[in-house]
Amino acid sequence: KPNPVHVAVTGGAGQVGYALLFRIASGQVFGPDVPIVLRLLEVTPALKALEGVAMELSDGAFPALTDVVLTDKPAEAFDGASWALLLGASPRKDGMERGDLLAANGALFGPQGQAIGQHAASDIRTIVVGNPCNTNAMIAAANAPDVPADRWFAMTRLDENRAKSQLAAKSGTPVGEVSNLAIWGNHSATQYPDFANARIGGRPVPEVITDDAWLNGEFISSVQKRGAAIIAARGLSSAASAANAVIDNVRSLNAGTPAGDWTSVGVQSRGEYGVPEGLFFSYPVVAKSDGTWTVQEGLQHDERAADRLRVTIAELEEERAAVRHLLG
Ligand code: NDP
Repeated sequence: KPNPVHVAVTGGAGQVGYALLFRIASGQVFGPDVPIVLRLLEVTPALKALEGVAMELSDGAFPALTDVVLTDKPAEAFDGASWALLLGASPRKDGMERGDLLAANGALFGPQGQAIGQHAASDIRTIVVGNPCNTNAMIAAANAPDVPADRWFAMTRLDENRAKSQLAAKSGTPVGEVSNLAIWGNHSATQYPDFANARIGGRPVPEVITDDAWLNGEFISSVQKRGAAIIAARGLSSAASAANAVIDNVRSLNAGTPAGDWTSVGVQSRGEYGVPEGLFFSYPVVAKSDGTWTVQEGLQHDERAADRLRVTIAELEEERAAVRHLLG
């Protein structure tokens, strides 16, 4: 039997955690024969609820799940972890300014980054889901200088999946036919879902969907505002689809992206496409099964797309300025 993979998950007692942990335990993410140890971090008041989740995991009788660790200590949660899935974040409270939210989360992600740097396995890869995920990822990475920069990710996969689904519905095509869809920028309302470089059945999207007003208007805003639409319909924020996107994200990074395709994920910019270095920016990323990845080069943006990129870059620059004191 292979050695178990230690997977640390923060905010394990939350909504997204509830939809995610059972799918990891079932073997859907790492394969049915790979033993898994779940290392679940929660804030102290949520430990009791976390125990309930652990009881249900036990009642799942998952053959691959060899152990579950429950803790409120980051050092214990990340000990020996090969994956860290950071779901837990401080929610926006009434009257909170954007800067307050960034600072509250910085106070969480700095120490978590340090603990990852000190205690995780040498092959650690971290995906930040908790919002504002791009900037939270930047803070965590800055606090773990010994972990290579290419092991830190911020999740935009749900946005990618949402965009693909919208394009499939509009064109009357199965969603599996939609490829090469990149989300550019921040996981926020300024993100740019890049239909122009996406393909349906291998053809450029604007050739298949000729309604330019829809692509540049309703399509983009429906992807940007989908989270709010789910809340309006369900009375709760999206959770199962977010968990599903975490799984898609891990699998793409582990198994690699299909030949000729890419996936969307926030990574630390090295200046690609004129994005300032160091920002966590969602790009089209080509991943290989050996765990390495590259930003897809050479894609073109028209003026409207370039304007949208400027807006999302400016927002990320503002976020960085607000947390600069947390970047070490
Ligand atoms: P959720 O499980 O619903 O959400 C967790 C995080 O994921 C939030 O930051 C949320 O951002 C983000 N998220 C949710 N939906 C999406 C989506 N569709 N796309 C991208 N990101 C998404 O929150 P809960 O409040 O149910 O649970 C949070 C848990 O985290 C609580 O149990 C809390 O105790 C825990 N926590 C743990 C910490 C720790 O381990 N140290 C620290 C802080 C909290 P958004 O709010 O913008 O939707």
